[in-house]
Amino acid sequence: MQLVAAFLVVVLMALSGAPGPIDDMSWVGIAKTSPHQPSGDIVLVDINARDTETSQSLATRQAEAIVALSERPPSAIFIEGSFDADDPGIEALREAIAASPVPVTVAWPIEFVASGTERNFVVARQADLPGAREVVDTNLFTVTGFIFEGERSLEVDGKTWGIFSSAIAGFPTGTGTFPIDYRYPVESFPTYRMKDLLVGPGATPDLEGRQVVVASAAGSVERAAKTPTQWRVPTVLVAMVAAETLLHGAPEVVNWPLPLVVVAILLSLCAVLLHSRMRPFSYALVTILALAAPFFAAEFDLFLRMGAAWCLLLVYFAIRARAAWRDRAANRDKLSGLPNFNALEAEFDEGPGRLIVTRVDRYDQILASLEPGLHRNFVKQIAQRLSVGRENAIYTDGTGHFAWFEELEETKGHIGGLLALANAPLKVGTRTFDFTCSFGILDCPMEKPRQAISATVVAADTAASRTSHIAEVSEQLDGDANWQLALHASLDHAIANEQIFLVYQPQCCLSDDSVVGAEALVRWEHPERGLISPAQFIPQIEKVGRLKPLTAHTLRLAAQTAAVSHRYGARVSTNVSATLLADDDFVRLISENVAAGGATPDAITVEITETARIADHTRAARNLEALRQKGFHISLDDFGTGEANLSLLVALPCDEIKIDRSFVMLAQFNERARMIIRALTETARFSGLRLIAEGIETDSDREALTRLGCEIGQGYLFGRPMPERQFLKQLLEQQETPRKKLGLY
Ligand code: C2E
Ligand code: MG
Ligand code: MG
Repeated sequence: MQLVAAFLVVVLMALSGAPGPIDDMSWVGIAKTSPHQPSGDIVLVDINARDTETSQSLATRQAEAIVALSERPPSAIFIEGSFDADDPGIEALREAIAASPVPVTVAWPIEFVASGTERNFVVARQADLPGAREVVDTNLFTVTGFIFEGERSLEVDGKTWGIFSSAIAGFPTGTGTFPIDYRYPVESFPTYRMKDLLVGPGATPDLEGRQVVVASAAGSVERAAKTPTQWRVPTVLVAMVAAETLLHGAPEVVNWPLPLVVVAILLSLCAVLLHSRMRPFSYALVTILALAAPFFAAEFDLFLRMGAAWCLLLVYFAIRARAAWRDRAANRDKLSGLPNFNALEAEFDEGPGRLIVTRVDRYDQILASLEPGLHRNFVKQIAQRLSVGRENAIYTDGTGHFAWFEELEETKGHIGGLLALANAPLKVGTRTFDFTCSFGILDCPMEKPRQAISATVVAADTAASRTSHIAEVSEQLDGDANWQLALHASLDHAIANEQIFLVYQPQCCLSDDSVVGAEALVRWEHPERGLISPAQFIPQIEKVGRLKPLTAHTLRLAAQTAAVSHRYGARVSTNVSATLLADDDFVRLISENVAAGGATPDAITVEITETARIADHTRAARNLEALRQKGFHISLDDFGTGEANLSLLVALPCDEIKIDRSFVMLAQFNERARMIIRALTETARFSGLRLIAEGIETDSDREALTRLGCEIGQGYLFGRPMPERQFLKQLLEQQETPRKKLGLY
């Protein structure tokens, strides 16, 4: 896929001509690295003005050279027609040409003439030179000012002109353009100075059979071009190199599609056939071959246009590097840079020995209490402590679990030692923390790496409640272990895929059925198990230590609904397990997620369930008071059962109590239940608390509760838990009912 993308990008580039300069540069490299000796058949007679004693005009010097050459005639003479139209030497030149025993060819320059918006080129024919053959001196310039290609003929004003280089080479057949072979360096053509020519035949070698170009080797600034071997070269010299090229037969150009396809095939073979470990070597080899190919081909007079193929290598490797960087980032814990559990899963089969997972107790609390700048240090210190004496990689899931592979036979014994070592206090910055952890050991085969990792994480979590701080996975494999394992792995997925959602059960005024609020109840629509009730999955979620993310999710969802319902006078109650009350960041968990859901605190009632499990009443009271200060309402769920009794009312700050369904059921039939409910209604009235009766199913329930002084109820009589939309619709319909007037809200 990456290769196809790179290929398409490069084809587009090549079609737009973008790799052209790269091709040119490769030709530069070839010209510089493998110079060839010219045949010697093309000779330059340099009529540089500095060599003559008087400052003769160009045409005069050309005329003198033609006369001097007549004494030892070459096979042809070539001159540039770059003199001015009023050059005083033109007459002498005419005479010299007329008298010359060898044909003289004059190469007129081409000039651009702008007429209106059009730019035409014309032949700058400066003089009439009877007897001279006439050609034009032109070459193809690239955008960068180089001449890489020559032409064989040119159409100007309806006339086909021969080209200077082509004339020097004796007008070889063929049309179109050809690459100029700069392996014949311009400075290596035989060159004679005019001065020597004038001394007499003995001063220069025999020129018989040669093509003599009469020109100033210094040239002029206007008529110079860049060539691969020299920065500024008079165009006449370029014409000589081009002529030498034609004499030998111009190199064959192999255009970009062929090299591009060959490199693409080689790359795809590497990608498909080779193991990932071998690929870097094979890519390096393909790159070397692609870089060397034009040099190698030049030996066979082939000019490979490799620009597009090189671009393919560049683009493909850039795409791969980016993907590799992303993969690396996905396999790293952002905070510590340690490999994460994705990496653990990927490398699972290569891991030596057994998998060990350790869970660091109070990990979140310690992190929350540390300045962000020290977080990395903290995680790194844990990793260092756990890896003591071993070189193994330590993986982390970013939530306080660390994993590695242990090769030792006596894993348990080794962990015992590690436990003692690991449990010493940890110093981060200026602070010292008690550091405790528990270990899970994978001691049995598992089908999939993900399952094995989850199982070991669950074992480590289970170990936290043991005095030994060690648990093995095989001990966990009872009836619901698989469910636990699946849970640990699938909760995040379920949240992300909206499998976990809330339903709302209205809380109504017993006197007129009007809705005053709703309790948000969580549901899990499991793809295999169907709809699961919270009574089933919440204990499991808690067991695997994932209650906090679940609570964060439900709070956010409830807050989204509350943000709307509150405008219609109905608050949303959301259940929060009492086990979270001991957390240092409990208040933050609630307030941040409610804010993230878009509700204000006074739109939310935090309903504390499972109050029997509050371990530290003082801390719980502190947290609940902090919530109240922020404007949240606090409700105690299932009042009258277990520990949720009057003593709790004294210990915990709250705004509401919910009488458990078991009392409501008995209200009609049992005097004791009625006494308790009556006592509760009075207590509530005295203390300014709101009282809600749960589980009202029938009209008789409602009447009994009303008689006992209850004003608000929740139960199937008023409505079953329903989707958010239905609840909000119900609210909207009763909008006219003046809630505030009832003094209930
Ligand atoms: P709860 O907070 O006491 O919720 C009341 C439960 O009684 C709900 O069961 C509700 O559907 C059910 N119920 C309501 N009216 C009637 C009635 O008239 N008759 C009968 N027979 N039952 C009625 P659900 O939804 O299965 O919830 C069970 C428990 O799960 C809840 O008890 C609560 O403790 C817990 N829970 C629900 N949602 C969450 C949550 O988001 N977070 C936490 N931590 N716990 C939750
Ligand atoms: Mg509840
Ligand atoms: Mg309840």
